[in-house]
Amino acid sequence: MPEGRIIRAVSGFFYVRTDEGDVQCRARGVFKKKKQSPMVGDWVGFEPTVPGEGIVTEIRPRETELLRPPIANVEQAVVVCSFKEPDFRQELLDRFLVHIEHEGLDALISLTKRDLVDDESVIDRIRTAYVRAGYRVIVTSVHTGEGVEELQRELSGKLSVFAGQSGVGKSSLLNAILPSLRLTTGEVSRKLKRGRHTTRHVEILELGKGGQVADTPGFNQLNFPMMEPTDLSACFPEMRSRAPECRFRGCLHQNEPDCRVRTAVEHGEIDAARYRNYLQFLQEISDQRRY
Ligand code: GDP
Ligand code: ZN
Repeated sequence: MPEGRIIRAVSGFFYVRTDEGDVQCRARGVFKKKKQSPMVGDWVGFEPTVPGEGIVTEIRPRETELLRPPIANVEQAVVVCSFKEPDFRQELLDRFLVHIEHEGLDALISLTKRDLVDDESVIDRIRTAYVRAGYRVIVTSVHTGEGVEELQRELSGKLSVFAGQSGVGKSSLLNAILPSLRLTTGEVSRKLKRGRHTTRHVEILELGKGGQVADTPGFNQLNFPMMEPTDLSACFPEMRSRAPECRFRGCLHQNEPDCRVRTAVEHGEIDAARYRNYLQFLQEISDQRRY
């Protein structure tokens, strides 16, 4: 059976990318009965009907599944935050990271507009905090080109989604990364802009050098997903790794005695601002649960 990956879904049609080109497919009726539907990102098997068309008959098991935006088998989320214009907001970065961790995706942090910062120590503080937490951090500027190749390397061979506030430079980064085919670049930029104002379909774009990105306004849902308070620290890698050494299982790392996480904060091994955000999110989750 021919196979491929759904790269676009529009009103009942699924566009399946194969080595021989794209095939326009409908889904077999049986999916409806099973309340299952093919998604962009799915690896599928299909039965060809006429040349260039077919019927999706099989969906391979998904590694990951995002519902907003609806896309399967995303491997990595790139959180884009600018140092300036808009100002860096660590709380927002941490919120994005919690969502990404909760979805089981790898996170990559891109700190943009490096050219607007004179004080090197500002950059170092943020970068160090997140590298020590266990994240890959790339500092970029599309004006000087710094970090763009590194980012491209990290994107290659994977399907990524971009997350971040409007205006932080997501489209600019994609433009900088795309090979010198300006037409495509312009289109990418336009599509992302349009996406901000309307809900529309998701589409997978080829970024060159084997990278793919979901062209979608994105992963910008910032209300916390329903989770138990004890699940939150699992969304902070630097807490997750230390929690087994806390005295109590299910330690919330607040006021419990012999808490390894709090000790790490006191010793400066865990970034204090990130820990404060953790406590704040914990409060929000508890408030949510009261309704
Ligand atoms: P998006 O909303 O996240 O896609 O952000 P855009 O890519 O549209 O960028 C928003 C604004 O920031 C534009 O005016 C860009 O020219 C500017 N910008 C993007 N990247 C950089 C950068 O590295 N340095 C500077 N100085 N400005 C940038
Ligand atoms: Zn603890």
